[in-house]
Amino acid sequence: MRKELWDWKYQKLGEKVVSNLKRKKHDAYLVERKEGVIPLLKEIMKENSTVAVGGSLTLTECGVLDFLREGNFNFLDRYNVKSKEELEEIYYNMFRADYFLCSANAITEDGKIVQLDGNGTRVAPMIFGPKHVIIVAGMNKVVPDIESANKRIEYISPMNSKRLNFDTPCTYTGKCDDCMSPERICIHRVIVESGVRHPGRFKIILVKEDLGL
Ligand code: SF4
Repeated sequence: MRKELWDWKYQKLGEKVVSNLKRKKHDAYLVERKEGVIPLLKEIMKENSTVAVGGSLTLTECGVLDFLREGNFNFLDRYNVKSKEELEEIYYNMFRADYFLCSANAITEDGKIVQLDGNGTRVAPMIFGPKHVIIVAGMNKVVPDIESANKRIEYISPMNSKRLNFDTPCTYTGKCDDCMSPERICIHRVIVESGVRHPGRFKIILVKEDLGL
């Protein structure tokens, strides 16, 4: 019964968010489970295109990195580099990619996408450059409003810092200390308010289960 009720809740909430994202001129899709992400990407993405990704647990959980490595794409694989210089080259080449894939830190019920980034390599190409931005997000990312989005981000950031093994206070305490650490992961906060300038550039795939952090 519990599972059915969450399914029902996520269906209703997902429909509302997708409708509001479309109203804001994004393409938006609601899929049942993470197994539905790759088939949808196969429909959306053209073969032989250049593809880049931002850091994301969700993409890994959905098998997106393996799909890009095994598929017929020019994948700018940031996780498969031999030097710092090669990684930097990928960061700059991301701006010319056909597709940039990442997740979201939060999506408000009225269709705003909220991201908090450290060095900006996720938010910068999301804002400008790649022809298409594909965001894959679980329903745990959906929040009522911007205030809730900021609270959610503050709650999960220590886990991201721990995951990335950064030397910040929250990595040790599990709690945000609004630190001045050189490795602080909370630097650039971006809200995508609307897609009206470039309708359909953003494609948001909302998955009816919890994914990532
Ligand atoms: S501001 Fe610093 S302490 Fe707070 S979550 Fe970010 S990295 Fe952690």
